[in-house]
Amino acid sequence: MSHRRGPWTTPSSLGRALLFALAALALALGAALLLPATPSARTVLLGRSWEGRPIRAVEVGNPAGTPVLVVGCIHGDETAGIAVARALERLSPRDLDLWIVPDLNPDGVAAGTRRNAHGVDLNRNFPWHWRSLDGVYESGPRPLSEREARIAHALILRLHPYVTIWFHQHLDLVWASGGKRRVEKAFARVSGLPYHPLPPLAGSAISWQNHALPGTTAFAAELPAGPASPARVARYVRAVLAAARTGTPRRS
Ligand SMILES: [Zn+2]
Repeated sequence: MSHRRGPWTTPSSLGRALLFALAALALALGAALLLPATPSARTVLLGRSWEGRPIRAVEVGNPAGTPVLVVGCIHGDETAGIAVARALERLSPRDLDLWIVPDLNPDGVAAGTRRNAHGVDLNRNFPWHWRSLDGVYESGPRPLSEREARIAHALILRLHPYVTIWFHQHLDLVWASGGKRRVEKAFARVSGLPYHPLPPLAGSAISWQNHALPGTTAFAAELPAGPASPARVARYVRAVLAAARTGTPRRS
């Protein structure tokens, strides 16, 4: 029986392996120094709006943790949640796979309008009980007719988020319609926004999620009018984490 040496037993291979390990370590250290404060953050291009603006998601935390989604803005004239989304991007929660879409409606934000570039209210373009609406709540010609809605729909089906928080304005309340009450109430308690059980809206993203993904919770955080102060942003960040951790499967 011939004696064959394994590839890692010869001194030259060992030396090469060591050199390789050292080089990898040096590269990793160099990369770590160049990265911002959240080395776990990963940005994903989900797609583009009708006018070609990128719609991105940022994933932070633990990819094996509980999936949680936060959408900073769906109505283009309700932008306060974008600051909350940006603050969440700097976190690295060990227990959560936190996905953040700062702005699902960049065309609306650019134009300062509620609706997208086709004049559609994206929050009436989802499949659950979709019906044709005109005017300010223009639903689009059919469910998921809009790129931006399709992008969110696909992401949600892929992630199956245990908790999803959609930021809106200016009602100054937690719009709870069909999710787990204790998750919604945890957000209300920490954020200071009053908890309001309200009927589900036909064609809204939240109503679709709560019906399509049983056992999960989606709700709207309706912030007060105007931009959120840094103190308020910090409070909403804590509220997101409180809601996410109340809703984790381990604790249900
Ligand atoms: Zn809104």
